[in-house]
Amino acid sequence: MIPAVFDRLAALPDLDGVTGRTIRSVFPRPALIRLEGRRPNPVFIAVMQHGDETVGLDVLKRLQAWMATHPLPRSLWVFVGNVEAAEAGKRRLSPETDFNRLWAGGTTPLHAMAGGIKAELAAAKPFAAIDFHNNTGANPHYSLVHGLGPEDRHLASLFSPNAILTLTPPAMMSLAMRKLCPSVTAECGQAKDPQGGEAGFDFLMAVLHLDRWHSEEDRELRLYEITGRVEVNPEASIGFEAGTDADLELPASLEKWNFFERPANSVFARLPLGHCPLSVIDEAGKDLTARFLSVEGDRVVLKRDVTPVMLTTSVAAIRDDCLCYFMEPPEARS
Ligand SMILES: [Zn+2]
Repeated sequence: MIPAVFDRLAALPDLDGVTGRTIRSVFPRPALIRLEGRRPNPVFIAVMQHGDETVGLDVLKRLQAWMATHPLPRSLWVFVGNVEAAEAGKRRLSPETDFNRLWAGGTTPLHAMAGGIKAELAAAKPFAAIDFHNNTGANPHYSLVHGLGPEDRHLASLFSPNAILTLTPPAMMSLAMRKLCPSVTAECGQAKDPQGGEAGFDFLMAVLHLDRWHSEEDRELRLYEITGRVEVNPEASIGFEAGTDADLELPASLEKWNFFERPANSVFARLPLGHCPLSVIDEAGKDLTARFLSVEGDRVVLKRDVTPVMLTTSVAAIRDDCLCYFMEPPEARS
């Protein structure tokens, strides 16, 4: 017998004054809250799957204030995720308890929880699914979408004109839920920025009030695909100002490039010591460096138009993950 690891609720607890750190005062364990609305097919949202990404809690607080005077136009299911990590102020407490990697089956009690919630949601014939997250670096709001159909595009366009098509990893929630209904991950900027909660709440309102999907989105949508992951040799030193003596010199304002197209022949980085520690690889690990970058003297120059995303000036994040991803429109992939 697998122990139940989450609570079931039929109403939101009072969230006034609750923070990520104190969330266990109202949600001692993960929770599934089922709220009844006028239309039965529910919108499903997930919050705090990553414990230090508090935007979802902010969305819930705004929702609670709005619900004091407005009936829900559609049923809403809320999954509250990694409250233990939230209490510790961390994304997750261990690699095995990354809540956004639980949704494609597995053998642990957490996998059983995710599988059970997914099956229950499937039976309720959901209208849409949204998973709320924050970013480490400064990025505009964007969604992760998992199909190119009109419903995928319509849903994504209600949040932001910026969207990335991705079909990995299969165990991420929004990709797994895509089998049931249009589904996105909403990346709401940095956790410290209150605009994220406002944008997330506006998105949820738009989806809750929608009666049906349209055949074409009526807002702008610029859809990209990730075609390369930019890595820095772990032995190389990194500097963020002109005249540094690091192996790799990047501009201090690097994060401003996120989601802005960098044209072919523009300088991407400088190499004060003359050797290039950058490599670009694809999802399968194939080396694409020569397709994207060339070294001209002490400069690294882009060989084609690319739009970077998830660029960060946090050296720890670069070491832990990567410098950034390069994106292109889906038709430019070949
Ligand atoms: Zn996240």
